[in-house]
Amino acid sequence: MSNQLKAFRSSFLDFVDDPFYVSELESVRYIADGLLVVEDGLVKELGEYESLYAKYVGIEIVSYPGMLIMPGFIDTHVHFPQTEAIASYGEQLLEWLNKYIFPTERKFQEFAYAQKIAAIFLDELLKNGTTTALVFAAVFPESVEAFFTEASRRNLRAIAGKVMMDRNAPDYLIDTPEISYQQSKQLIEKWHKNGRLLYAVTPRFAITSSAEQLSVASRLLDEFPDIEGYLDVYDRAGLVRNRSIFAHGVHLTDAEFARLSEAESAIAFCPTSNLFLGSGLFKLEKAKSNEHPVKLGLGTDVGAGTSFSLLQTAGEAYKVAQLRKQKLSPFQALFLATLGGARALGLEDKLGNFETGKEADFIVIDPRCTELLTFRNGDATAASIAELAAKVFTLMVVGSDRSICATYILGNLAYERLN
Ligand SMILES: [Zn+2]
Repeated sequence: MSNQLKAFRSSFLDFVDDPFYVSELESVRYIADGLLVVEDGLVKELGEYESLYAKYVGIEIVSYPGMLIMPGFIDTHVHFPQTEAIASYGEQLLEWLNKYIFPTERKFQEFAYAQKIAAIFLDELLKNGTTTALVFAAVFPESVEAFFTEASRRNLRAIAGKVMMDRNAPDYLIDTPEISYQQSKQLIEKWHKNGRLLYAVTPRFAITSSAEQLSVASRLLDEFPDIEGYLDVYDRAGLVRNRSIFAHGVHLTDAEFARLSEAESAIAFCPTSNLFLGSGLFKLEKAKSNEHPVKLGLGTDVGAGTSFSLLQTAGEAYKVAQLRKQKLSPFQALFLATLGGARALGLEDKLGNFETGKEADFIVIDPRCTELLTFRNGDATAASIAELAAKVFTLMVVGSDRSICATYILGNLAYERLN
C-alpha cells in the first residue's frame, strides 16, 4: 500500500494540555518555523523544520510563510437550520423561538431545502476555520439526512442529531416519544460511524421534551453506548453521563457544576448567544474550578449566536469573563476552541491537536489579514510565547472569517480565501 505523504511549513500553535490547570510552558506548543508531516490524512509528525526536513527529502512541501497553523476549530453547539435566522431582532429565548425559529425550522421537512441550507452552513464553517461541530438539525429526519449527506461530501468529522421535542411548540414541529425513538434509532443505524460522521441523541430542552421523551433519549444512549448525547436535561431521566453535552449552563448552581464534574459531562459555553438573547453570564471559574472541573468547549449557537467564527466567539467569551471580573487568557480561549472542544466531545483521541495519529484537520491563520491587524501585529512570527499571546489575542478581538486563509480536511485543502 502506498502511503500518501504531504508536508506543511509554517509557524504552528497547538495545546498538549489544559492551560487552565497547568502552566503555559506545559500546555502551549509553539514552533516558529515548523514542519507538519501528514500521512494518509493523519498527523505523522510535527517538529522544527530544521531538524525534520532532511528526513523527508523529495516530498512536496506547502509553505505558508508569515502564517500560523492551528488545529481546526471545534464548535460544540450550533443549529444548522437557524443559519438563515441569525440576527433576528428584539426577543428573548421563548419569544425568539416562537417568532423566528420555529417557523424557520418548519421548512426543514423538505430534504432539498434542508440540503441547500446544510451546504451553505458547512461552507460557512469551513470559511471560519471550524472543522468539527456538534450540530442540531430540526425535528424532521429529512433535515438530518440532508445534513449528513452534505457533511459526508466534505469528508467532515461532524456530529448531528434529530431534535426531539414533543410539547410546547407548534403542532407542525412536534413528535412523540415513540416517533422520536423510532426515527432516532433509524438515523443512528444509518449514519453513526458512517465514514467520519457521528450521531448525537438530541432532546432540545426541558420545556419542549416530556419526561417520557427524555427517558426515551436515555434508552437510546443505553442501546448505543458510544453515542454522543446533546442535552439540556436531566439527571432524573438518566441523561447526565459521560459523553453528554449541555448547552449554555448560565444558570447552573454550585451543586449542578459538581454533579456535571462527577458525571464527566461537558458544557458548551456560548457567549455570543447568551449576550444576544440576554440569557446570562457563564460562570467560567466554576466550570474550571479545582474542586469540580467540568469539560468545557465553546459553542457559537448560531442562530441565537451572532457569528460562526470561533475567534470572535473566543473574544466574546473574554468579555463575558471581564463582566464577572475574571480573566480568560488567549491561550485558554484557544484551548477551548480546539483540544478543550475535542475533550468535551470525547474525541480527543482523534482531534484537537497535532499529536501523531490524529486526524489532520487544520487551519492556516493569517495574523495580518486586514490593514488594522497588519499595523497592530507588525511582524507575523512571534519571538516568544508572550508575544504570541498578544498576537493571537488581537485575532480574538478584531479577527473574523478573514483571518482564516485556508482550511484543510484530512490534509486536503477544503477552503481557501481568495481575496
Ligand atoms: Zn442552541
